[in-house]
Amino acid sequence: MEEVRKEEVEDNTDIIMEGALIARDRVGVQDFVLLDSHTSEAAFLNNLRKRYQENLIYTYIGTLLVSVNPYKELDIYTVTQMQLYRGVNFFELPPHLYAIADNAYRVMCSEYNNHFILISGESGAGKTEASKKILQYYAVTCPTTEQLQVVRDRLLLSNPVLEAFGNAKTLRNDNSSRFGKYMDIQFDFKGAPVGGHILSYLIEKSRVVHQNHGERNFHIFYQLLEGGEKDLLCWLGLERNPQKYAYLIQGRCAKVFSINDKNDWKIVRKAFSIIDFTEKDLEHLFGIVASVLHLGNIQFEEDSNGHAIIRNGTQIKWISKLLGVHLSILQESLTHRKIEARSEEVLSPLNVDLAFYARDAVAKAIYGRTFTWLVNKINGSLANKDSTRKTVIGLLDIYGFEVLDTNSFEQFCINYCNEKLQQLLIEMTLKAEQEEYEMEGIEDEECLRPGEATDLSFLEKLEEKVGDHAHFVTRKLADQKTRKSIDWVDFRLLHYAGEVTYCAVGFLEKNNDLLYRNLKEVLCNSKNGIIRECFLLSELDSRRRPETVATQFKNSLMSLIEILMSKEPSYIRCIKPNENKEPGKFDDCLIRHQVKYLGLMEHLRVRRAGFAYRRKYEHFLQRYKSLCPATWPHWHGPAAEGVERLIKHIGYKPEEYKLGRTKIFIRFPKTLFATEDAFEIRK
Ligand code: ADP
Ligand code: MG
Repeated sequence: MEEVRKEEVEDNTDIIMEGALIARDRVGVQDFVLLDSHTSEAAFLNNLRKRYQENLIYTYIGTLLVSVNPYKELDIYTVTQMQLYRGVNFFELPPHLYAIADNAYRVMCSEYNNHFILISGESGAGKTEASKKILQYYAVTCPTTEQLQVVRDRLLLSNPVLEAFGNAKTLRNDNSSRFGKYMDIQFDFKGAPVGGHILSYLIEKSRVVHQNHGERNFHIFYQLLEGGEKDLLCWLGLERNPQKYAYLIQGRCAKVFSINDKNDWKIVRKAFSIIDFTEKDLEHLFGIVASVLHLGNIQFEEDSNGHAIIRNGTQIKWISKLLGVHLSILQESLTHRKIEARSEEVLSPLNVDLAFYARDAVAKAIYGRTFTWLVNKINGSLANKDSTRKTVIGLLDIYGFEVLDTNSFEQFCINYCNEKLQQLLIEMTLKAEQEEYEMEGIEDEECLRPGEATDLSFLEKLEEKVGDHAHFVTRKLADQKTRKSIDWVDFRLLHYAGEVTYCAVGFLEKNNDLLYRNLKEVLCNSKNGIIRECFLLSELDSRRRPETVATQFKNSLMSLIEILMSKEPSYIRCIKPNENKEPGKFDDCLIRHQVKYLGLMEHLRVRRAGFAYRRKYEHFLQRYKSLCPATWPHWHGPAAEGVERLIKHIGYKPEEYKLGRTKIFIRFPKTLFATEDAFEIRK
C-alpha cells in the first residue's frame, strides 16, 4: 500500500521535473534527494545509469550537480539552451551546468556577494570542459558593451593558450590538464564581465623531459612543429618532424588521432594576438620552447678523465642564440658544477649522469617558469584597472584524485590537494546548513553538525607532516608495523578515496627542485626577456634557502582555501563512465568507486536530513500567489504572512515545512513539486 502511494506522488513530480510526460522508470529522477528514503548505493547507481543511457548526463543532489562524461557531442549547449536557463529558478528545468552557473550569477547580482564553482573529479571526467562551458555561458548571456567585448574575448581565449602549454595527451585523457587552475571572473555592478584573474597550481614539469608509454609532452611542442610557419621553424633551428626530438618521443605516440595540432596552432596564434602578446614576446616564448627541444637532443660522452663533454655542438649553439646566453659559459655550466669552498668558487667537472641530470633540470626549470610567466602575462591582459567595486565568480578546475600504476611526488601533491578540498566541501556544506538554520532561527534535531559527518583526523595528521620533510614522512609511514608489508621505497596512505601506494624514489629530488648555481647564473644573465624575468639575480643570494615544492604548494593551497572560504560555494562533481573514452558505456565498478570518493552518498545524506529546498518569502509568494484567493492577485501585508496563508490554503502539513525569518524551508522536494504542479495546471 505504502509503496503504491509513494509511486503515485513521485510519478506526478516527474511531469514537472523533466518538463514532459516521460516515465520515471526510464529516465530516473533528476534529483537524488527524490529517491526512496532508504537510499542505497545501488539505487544511486541505478538512477545514474538510467539517466546516462537516456543522455541525461546531469543529476542534482539538492544544489550540487553530478555530471557523467558523455564522450559524445550532445545538443544541450546551444545558445538557445543558454537562453532557456537564463534567469530561471533552479529546479524548473532539467539539471544543467547552466543552471548552476545562472544560479551563482543571479545570487551574485541580487546579493552582491562573491561565489565560486568547484569542479572536481578524476582525470578525463569532464572538469575542464565544464569550466569552459560555464565561461561560455557567461560570455553569451551576460550583458556587455562594445568596449567589454575585448575582455570577453580575452577571457575565452586565455584557455587555448594555457591548454597549449599546460595540457598533454595522457592515457586517461587526450587533453589532460597538467596544472590546477582557479579563475576569477570579475563583474561590474551591472553584471557585465569586466576582467579576470588566473591562479595556476603545480604545472607537471617532469613531463617536459619524460613521458610514460602512450603519453605525450605538452601540446605546444607538437603544435609548433606541425603548424609553425617555415620561416619561424628555420629561425628556431627546428625540423618539422617530432621524431627528431628526444623529449617528444618517449611515449612513442607523437601523433594522436583525436588531436589536430596544426589547427590548434592556428587557434593559439590567434589567441596570442588578442591577449596582447607582442611579436617580441612571442619570439622569446617560442625561443624557449625550441631551446627545450634542443636541450633534449644534447648528448654527453666521457672524456679520458671520466668527465662529461658535449658530443655535438649544434644544439648548444641554437640554445645560446635563442636564450641569448654566452656559448662557452653555457657549455661549461652544463658540464661543471660550481662549488663554494672556503669562500672560493671552484668549478668541479660533472660525470655523464650528472650532466644529463643538469640538462633535464634546466629544461624543466625554464619550461615551468615560463608557464608561470605566461599566466602572469595573461593576467595582465585580463586585469581591470578601474577601481569600482566588483564581484567575482571563481571557477576551480582542479585535478582529481589520481591513482596510477606508479604514484610519485606529483600524485602525492595532487591527492593531498584533493583531501583538502574535500574537507573544505564537507565543512562548508555542513556549516552552511547550520548557519542558515541558525540565522533563520530554526532549530531542528536533524540538522547535522560539522565534524560529525566524517573523521578528518587523518587529514590533519597528513597536513602536519607534509612540508619540508616529504621523505621523512615516507620512511616513517613505511616503518609502521600496522601497514601491510611494503617495499622500503614505497609507502601507503589511506586517503578518503582509498588507499594509495606511493613510490618514494625521486621524492626528495622533485621536492627540492634543484638547479645548479652556475646554470642559474647563466639564465639570470640571459638576453631572452622572458628568461630574464623568470630568473632574478636576487635568487643567487646563497643565504636565501629556496622553499621546497611541497612547501610552496601547501602555501598556495592554503591561500586558495582562504579565497574560497570567503565566497559562496557551488559544486559540480564529474564522473568518468569508463576507461576507454567510449560513449554510452557505463562501467558500474569504476563509477561506484568515484561515487564513493567524490563523497556523493555522504552529501546526499546531509541533504536528505536537512531541508532540501528553501526560498525567500517574496519569491515563493510571487510565484505561487495565484493558488490562494487571499494572496491573489496582490498581497498587501508582509510576505511571510502571505506565505503562511498560502500554504495553509494549499494544505502543507506541519512536518513538511519550517518558517524562518526570511525564508520558507521545505523538507521534501515532492511538496514543492506538487505545488509547482498545481501552479502549472492553473496557468
Ligand atoms: P578533465 O578536465 O576532467 O580531465 P576533460 O574536461 O578534459 O576532463 O574531458 C575529457 C574529454 O571528455 C574531453 O576532451 C571531451 O572529449 C570529453 N567530454 C568531457 N565533457 C564532455 C561533454 N560535456 N560533452 C561531450 N564531451 C565531453
Ligand atoms: Mg582538465
